[in-house]
Amino acid sequence: MKNINEEEISFILNHLGEERENYFNAVAPPIIQSSNFAFDTVQEFRNGFNNSYEIHTYSRGNNPTVEILRKKMAALEHTEDALVFASGAAAISSAIIPFVKSGDHIVCIENPYNWTAQLISKLLSKFGVEYTFIDATNNENIEKSIRPNTKVLFLESPNSFTYEIQDLTFCAEFAKKHGLISIIDNSYSSPIYQNPADFGIDLVVHSGSKYINGHSDVILGVICGSKNLLNLIFSSPFMTLGAVLSPNDAYLAIRGLRTLPIRIKRSDESAKIIISELKKHPKVLKIYHPFDDENPQRELAMRQMRGTGGMFSARFDVNDFDLMEEFCNRITTFTMAVSWGAYESLMVPTCAFYQNQNKNKPAQEFNLIRFYVGLEDPYYLLSGINEALKIL
Ligand SMILES: *Cc1c(COP(=O)(O)O)cnc(C)c1O
Repeated sequence: MKNINEEEISFILNHLGEERENYFNAVAPPIIQSSNFAFDTVQEFRNGFNNSYEIHTYSRGNNPTVEILRKKMAALEHTEDALVFASGAAAISSAIIPFVKSGDHIVCIENPYNWTAQLISKLLSKFGVEYTFIDATNNENIEKSIRPNTKVLFLESPNSFTYEIQDLTFCAEFAKKHGLISIIDNSYSSPIYQNPADFGIDLVVHSGSKYINGHSDVILGVICGSKNLLNLIFSSPFMTLGAVLSPNDAYLAIRGLRTLPIRIKRSDESAKIIISELKKHPKVLKIYHPFDDENPQRELAMRQMRGTGGMFSARFDVNDFDLMEEFCNRITTFTMAVSWGAYESLMVPTCAFYQNQNKNKPAQEFNLIRFYVGLEDPYYLLSGINEALKIL
């Protein structure tokens, strides 16, 4: 695994794409809050129509503030270009849609992000697109899942609850051999800790609402890839569905990106402190974390990822549903809320997925909690868990 190139990342986050001479040498980029852009001649106007991917014609296509974010994301993911969207869900949909039609087949990892599963199994299936969800921790399962009509291999490595990993080198080669488009949701690692394009994955998508923006105040999505593939995505779902990011949100995301490397490193280090303390507690049954000593995929994780960030899950030795619920209510140092990747520590107790009387339906057992460790003091965060553990 190549080390983080700190110098390259510093240049990208502080300067790349910022043409300050075009805006009074302002250090912070301007928010170009304009829907449309003027042309002096018919010929220039014509060019604008023909290439709204690159020329500033209309802000559903390309806006100068949004473009700065696109350039930085492409550079961070080692790809030719990037498109940004009004949400991660829009980015995921737009990465898949151009490559399938009625009668085609998608292979996807089992237990991807919930709305990715819904897109494939509920929405695209309505238009005759077939799908298979597979345990992709095993390369043979991927080989067995392919059909003559398979067009897309969708990965999420690690996923965001139990952190199963796919062998990216194998997946990229397999996709190339069979003419599939390979797509990965890389939100967990962020571009700081994993660059799937280096392994040959075609399209890298992010929920930028997590680490990229990092302040729990913007919903944002990104697709990174070759100009060829992104042009294809641009002309259809991007321009037709129109889930574009506003210049103001792009500005906030550029600002959030400035501190991405130090935020994710802090989260990573604090999570490791908390995990090592929790592992000593008799009521903690299992820790789910890509680099955990007991993770059978640890070696693969360490080959593909430079670090892990602040997210992990823990299963507690609790058999009683109501006791589990009370335990979660007593953890005061982690805020109970969806999402992750920002400055504040969060937790998602899986018992919240259960209806009161329906205690065995969801994929995850009720004694699991997903923790996201933010920027607070790790010992402060731990004290809240330790306090609640007293009732178990
Ligand atoms: C949050 C999330 C998404 C969806 O992103 P939004 O920005 O909320 O639309 C996709 N994948 C993963 C892994 C996520 O955590």
